[in-house]
Amino acid sequence: MTEPKNTMIRPHASTGLMKHGYGIGQVKQWRTEQSRAGKPSSLEDFFRAHGLCFNCHAVGQKISGVKWQDPAAVSSIELLAPGVPESIASIHQRELKDAVRWDYIYTNCEVCGGTGVLPSQAR
Ligand SMILES: [Zn+2]
Repeated sequence: MTEPKNTMIRPHASTGLMKHGYGIGQVKQWRTEQSRAGKPSSLEDFFRAHGLCFNCHAVGQKISGVKWQDPAAVSSIELLAPGVPESIASIHQRELKDAVRWDYIYTNCEVCGGTGVLPSQAR
């Protein structure tokens, strides 16, 4: 069984970049230089060139669902569960706006195994 990858939501790219010591300024500079040199200059190219896992934006984890607490109960939805036609946005609309508090459920990235670094680059 293969998981539909696009049901998993990546943390924001800047989170993973900061975790590995890269600033947004560095990324912009690298991309500008690459572009001027006529080389691949996408954000994905930056991740790959620096040995970082683009699948999870180098965070090592991806968002697989949300859990929330409202006055009545604690609930959760696993976005990976088969047959759940939910997105974070739709859950926000319906549930999270009234929740006392809520948080994402994270799962380890299947590509890098939670390191944020591409397997071929790991020591
Ligand atoms: Zn990863």
